[in-house]
Amino acid sequence: MMKPDVARWVRPEIRALSAYHVPPAQGLVKLDAMENPYGWPPEVVDAWLERLRAVPLNRYPDPAGGALKEALRGVMAVPADMALMLGNGSDELIQIIAQAVSGPERVLLSPEPGFVMYRMIASFTGMRYVGVPLAADFALDRAAMLAAIEEHRPAVIFLAYPNNPTGNLFARADVEAVLDAAPGLVVLDEAYHAFADDSFMGDLGRWPNLLVMRTLSKVALAGLRLGLLAGPPAWLEEFDKLRLPYNVNSLTQASALFALEQWPMLEQQAAAIVRERAALLEGLARLPGVQVYPSRANFVLFRVPPGRADAVFQGLLQRKVLIKNLAGAGGVLADCLRVTVGTPEENRCFLDGLKEVLAA
Ligand SMILES: *Cc1c(COP(=O)(O)O)cnc(C)c1O
Repeated sequence: MMKPDVARWVRPEIRALSAYHVPPAQGLVKLDAMENPYGWPPEVVDAWLERLRAVPLNRYPDPAGGALKEALRGVMAVPADMALMLGNGSDELIQIIAQAVSGPERVLLSPEPGFVMYRMIASFTGMRYVGVPLAADFALDRAAMLAAIEEHRPAVIFLAYPNNPTGNLFARADVEAVLDAAPGLVVLDEAYHAFADDSFMGDLGRWPNLLVMRTLSKVALAGLRLGLLAGPPAWLEEFDKLRLPYNVNSLTQASALFALEQWPMLEQQAAAIVRERAALLEGLARLPGVQVYPSRANFVLFRVPPGRADAVFQGLLQRKVLIKNLAGAGGVLADCLRVTVGTPEENRCFLDGLKEVLAA
């Protein structure tokens, strides 16, 4: 067989990327991906399966997800004059926004360290990516952000609120300064809203270019892939043209609609995660040599003594605990790891393992 002519035809910026890596997790205490650790009681699972029985899989899905959108408006408190768009995960919504504003001279800007998909999607869509370093305490560096906005005139700015992987919520005044200065879109990515106790959803309309994005992934339903984007109708009408038909499948629509009916249960689970987060922060703070950062999300960023992060990650893996090693990124994340808040037993398992590894 002749050698595939990849280098000639695939864009160089795509060949330069590494594919998003998901490590195997079979048989491990899985604390690497910010999933909700709690399942549903059997009677809820039965009621859900009953609902799925009625979904006609031979038919295309509801193209706009009308019923699901109505339910989401209620649960997510989307202002009545704002439009709503659904995505196959919020990752797809990030991609659609970027596609809508992309161009060779167009800039996608985001603070760093931040969510890696912003940078990757900028590459996918042929945009120039500008990362603006956060301050040493992971706050938005307001002066640096304003200077970068002035210099690069970004078409779109993504702010994760709270931020991933640092876990903190940016100061409202800093976010508002960015909104005041930005010439283009500002997307508040509220993937961790359920644990954050603050939101810009109620601020939609105060700035014509403000959009708010959420997802069901971190609160309960990572397997479903459902993200939502709320904002002024004029923007969303344009984005909707880029949405592939039927991007949210029938099983996701029916399952999400069912899950929203169980919202009090999901809120209780989120409250349990917030309580466990406090216990995990305390447990980590007690370990000698560990520096732990405040979190408003369902994960915690922590720093181990210089040069130990890889050994800590591997030592935990040997003890069947999978977390995320961020030390490879270097810079402000040198010696840092990120752990998702699990069940009390999972967190105990992680803390015990970490204590052993650090003492070794
Ligand atoms: C996890 C995460 C997402 C991705 O959400 P999906 O809806 O699962 O695609 C988006 N933004 C941030 C900041 C995240 O951490």
